[in-house]
Amino acid sequence: MTDLIQHSPNSPILLTASLHVDEARKAISNLVNELIEESHKLNSAGNIESVTLDQAINRILAEDLLSPIDVPAADNSAMDGFAFHGECLGNSEDVITLKVVGTAYAGKPYIGDVGPDECLKIMTGALMPHDCDTVIPQEFTEFANESTIGFKQNQVKRGENRRLRGEDLQIGKAAVAAGRLLRPSDLGLAASLGIASLKVHRRLKVAILSSGDELRSLGQPLDTGSIYDSNRYSLTGLLNRLNLDIIDCGIVRDDPASLKAAFIDAASKADVLISSGGVSVGEADFTKQIMQELGDVGFWKIAMRPGRPMAFGMLKPVQGSNRKTLFFGLPGNPVAVMVTFYQFVRSALLQLNGASQTEPPMTQAIAETPIRKKPGRTEFQRAILGRGQDGKPTVKLTGSQGAGILRSMSEANCFVILPHEQGNVAAGDWLDVALFDGLL
Ligand code: AMP
Ligand code: MG
Repeated sequence: MTDLIQHSPNSPILLTASLHVDEARKAISNLVNELIEESHKLNSAGNIESVTLDQAINRILAEDLLSPIDVPAADNSAMDGFAFHGECLGNSEDVITLKVVGTAYAGKPYIGDVGPDECLKIMTGALMPHDCDTVIPQEFTEFANESTIGFKQNQVKRGENRRLRGEDLQIGKAAVAAGRLLRPSDLGLAASLGIASLKVHRRLKVAILSSGDELRSLGQPLDTGSIYDSNRYSLTGLLNRLNLDIIDCGIVRDDPASLKAAFIDAASKADVLISSGGVSVGEADFTKQIMQELGDVGFWKIAMRPGRPMAFGMLKPVQGSNRKTLFFGLPGNPVAVMVTFYQFVRSALLQLNGASQTEPPMTQAIAETPIRKKPGRTEFQRAILGRGQDGKPTVKLTGSQGAGILRSMSEANCFVILPHEQGNVAAGDWLDVALFDGLL
């Protein structure tokens, strides 16, 4: 890590050289850790709340979810078939014949004994009788009628097709570990244990604002040179994926007084402020001035494309609040906003909110065409993940890759991530790919 981005409370992070994305991520993660420690000292109990399962999607579990029961609660059948005592099994093809003494259904167990030459017709999920340990699936029998069945001795092994008590979860053990970003399967799992509500970290309050004299709100007329503010809407969509509490601070003009007032307002309300625009070389100067008064913020040139300029740091507590506000000043270009959110903001929000896994999943696919790339910066190209004729995963870029061209993002379903050192890509090369689905 370069000395230039060491963080100290009273000196803004100054940076002249380009910063590797990994260094930027490290610096962000370090500051987030500091904020977490401070918030623990202030009020850790107030950061946890209980929510019912229907409210818990994409929240972060604050305590291990301990199983109050064994799952399954008793041995049961994994197949539709016949339960019997496996002592009669062997290695030969000889056919064993057993008498059928009854039927066990899921939720309707068989009451009675099953002797050595007997078996029980059994449905998936039905309790295994205590004197049986094996199930022969219906389709593996040589013959099966109401009263008898026959099957080859070596058709099943002893103990097969039986689910053991506690094989999925044991009483008192963690079914889901603290720090999990709760997904649909976790909610189903909690319900399967009879648990109706979960302890989760409180939703982070995240303020968003757009800065730029040229920006107009939806519904306003577009005069010459003006454009609609799209960034607040893509940011809202991105934040909604994380079930956060969004505070929309609207559009702020490019003048120091308005920006300062907006930042103070956001700092009084939010744990995190995400602004877009106003951090590029021509505009950063007065933003820097304001930030020197309000907090400790670095203005970074990151070796990446898109998304080169970015401001990051924290705003000091305002109006008697004792909470600092994490600040991301994202570039104004609409694609750059989404790329920097994906690369830096998403994992910081998850980390700040107690998630144990903050990195999105990645995969690899084969380039369909050559891609031009200069070594010395990380690139996030928009692409479509598909499948070649041989069934292998492939990626194809979506149209023009300019940082302002939102359509390239809208048509894509993934980023191709070309690492810092990478040069030109040849068709057929394997590339790192991050799927948008569920993330962006
Ligand atoms: P800036 O980072 O402020 O220099 O902006 C870079 C480019 O992004 C300019 O073309 C801006 O007009 C555009 N831009 C900035 N903010 C937004 C926004 N909220 N929505 C759409 N485009 C924006
Ligand atoms: Mg601007």
